[in-house]
Amino acid sequence: MTECVFCRIASGDVPAKEVYRDDDAIAIEDLNPQAPVHLLVISVKHYPTIGEATGGDSSDAAISAALIRIASRLGEERGGRRGYRLVINTGIDGGQTVGHVHVHVLAGRTMGWPPG
Ligand code: AMP
Ligand code: ZN
Repeated sequence: MTECVFCRIASGDVPAKEVYRDDDAIAIEDLNPQAPVHLLVISVKHYPTIGEATGGDSSDAAISAALIRIASRLGEERGGRRGYRLVINTGIDGGQTVGHVHVHVLAGRTMGWPPG
């Protein structure tokens, strides 16, 4: 069995609060929310990072585009007029803690800049 928690959520082995699903991607509520709205858009297929998701063949590129499309749609829905932030942490310096590509959708408060 895979050790990857997001693969296990995508396959239904690990429960999550799912807000969206299609053949390529799911969106769930983050377990440790950093804003009133904090969703994760996760590819169903395992890619360790966004670089690997965009760097393969054209079907991989289509999936990374789908992740952004779904994340921005959820941001529009949940953030409304006030807006939202999409984040893709990548690698150690990027602060990535789960090695399966995902897009954070944050909304419901004013975000700071620069990020920590
Ligand atoms: P990152 O640090 O960018 O890799 O983001 C990983 C995110 O996954 C963090 O915000 C965690 O709170 C979240 N997370 C980890 N495990 C789970 C889980 N089982 N269900 C929902 N969110 C999770
Ligand atoms: Zn995975």
